Amino acid sequence: MVKTRFAPSPTGFLHVGGLRTALFSYLFAKHHGGKFLLRIEDTDRERLVDGGIENILKSLRWAGIKPDEGIDLDESGKVIQTGKNGPYIQSERLKIYHKHVDRLIKDDHAYYCFCSKERLAELRQIQEANKQATGYDGLCREMPLAEAKKRVTAGESHVIRMKMPKTGITKFTDLVRGDVEFKNELIDDQVILKADRFPTYHLAVVVDDHLMEITHVIRAEEWLPSTPKHIELYKMFGWKPPEFAHLSLLVNEQKQKLSKRHGDVAVRDFIDKGYLPEAMVNFIAFLGWNPGDEREMFDLDSLIKEFDFAKISKAAGVFNLEKLDWFNREYLKKMPSAELIKICLPMFRDRRYEIGDNDWLGKVLSLEKKRVTTLVELVESIKFVFEDTPYEAQILVWKKSSKEETKNVLEKLVNCLNKISVQDWTKTGMESRVGGWMKENEFGTGNVLWPMRVALSGQKNSPGPFEIAEVLGKEETIERLRMAIKKLE
Ligand code: GLU
Repeated sequence: MVKTRFAPSPTGFLHVGGLRTALFSYLFAKHHGGKFLLRIEDTDRERLVDGGIENILKSLRWAGIKPDEGIDLDESGKVIQTGKNGPYIQSERLKIYHKHVDRLIKDDHAYYCFCSKERLAELRQIQEANKQATGYDGLCREMPLAEAKKRVTAGESHVIRMKMPKTGITKFTDLVRGDVEFKNELIDDQVILKADRFPTYHLAVVVDDHLMEITHVIRAEEWLPSTPKHIELYKMFGWKPPEFAHLSLLVNEQKQKLSKRHGDVAVRDFIDKGYLPEAMVNFIAFLGWNPGDEREMFDLDSLIKEFDFAKISKAAGVFNLEKLDWFNREYLKKMPSAELIKICLPMFRDRRYEIGDNDWLGKVLSLEKKRVTTLVELVESIKFVFEDTPYEAQILVWKKSSKEETKNVLEKLVNCLNKISVQDWTKTGMESRVGGWMKENEFGTGNVLWPMRVALSGQKNSPGPFEIAEVLGKEETIERLRMAIKKLE
């Protein structure tokens, strides 16, 4: 059975690149009827952030990615662990790593290293000055085990390093990049257990992926150079390595690596701005993958059906915000009214709006949903329905008209609207009544509809006046028109 995993470090918020890794891992597992596991890699104690695990899981849950095994959140938002291969948080697995390190030492695949930070820094300086590759020089590699153990017993600070073979090459076939090979002589004797007895990522990732029965490791390209070390560790333990797939870098349109300096990179930022999960998932899926034809709209289920490594590109994925905006507009337009209301409700509540029934709310949202990009923009754009919008009297006046004329027209318009019954107070009802009245009196469209629209919305750009009037209702519409007339006095 195929089993993939996402193994984030809880060092902040989930990055869009992390979401892509998680999504691709999830899609691949589901495409093959397999399982998706979530593990937390928190061995780098200095980079941990409070609430880091919850942040990541909330963003994943928002995107609809749910682990079958490992770490998840319960209904109350608490971190839980499920599955028979736990614990799934590396800091809770120290004993397991210690046992495996002991095994490597016993089999002469790893050694104690007592070199001080100062010595290593000096070594690095010398190597850099001589334009040599930097790395550990193997001083402790040949120390007799008995001597090393004596120093350990005496309490001397130490780390444990793996004994990387000095000759030969490590080869593997990456599912994205094809055949790759590395010369072993260029690879450092990686530290696998630190002085604080925490494993490094390299040891923990191998032990965990093996014990958790991961069949496919899908991760970012930055881990490609580490893979030969991992493959050697698998060999040292006598285990079969999983398949590897390294996803290309994400870049912005200037071909720079995506980073906070150039804009939003945390999924949280996009959630806060009111992007829809469907749009984000569809957009992220296309960062390095495509279905091989013209189709663009894919929900999670159709992605699961189509997702395949054969269609993953080696080229960097370009994070094009305009494309994300396009997807978001498409999904917003398509979204059924009831669903849209449901996701906007918390924002209405935050703003303490008095909201009517769903039928009415649906009409309010329809005023703008085809004209905006995000949910936040949507709620902001219909603010005028709920709140007083201050505006200058001058913007009531259409370019070919004057203040007096506008005032005059609005007064007459109020009379005309007053005669429309509440039952006929619909967009089409008003269109025909006001339209007929305009024709009879030979009023130009701009002369009437421009000031009406501005009076009702307080804005130069807004939806059509009759749509707004229907939503506002007769009383409020007349009230706003009277206020406008007053402004023009
Ligand atoms: N903890 C690593 C990260 O956050 C995971 C790398 C891997 O998937 O092996 O990038």
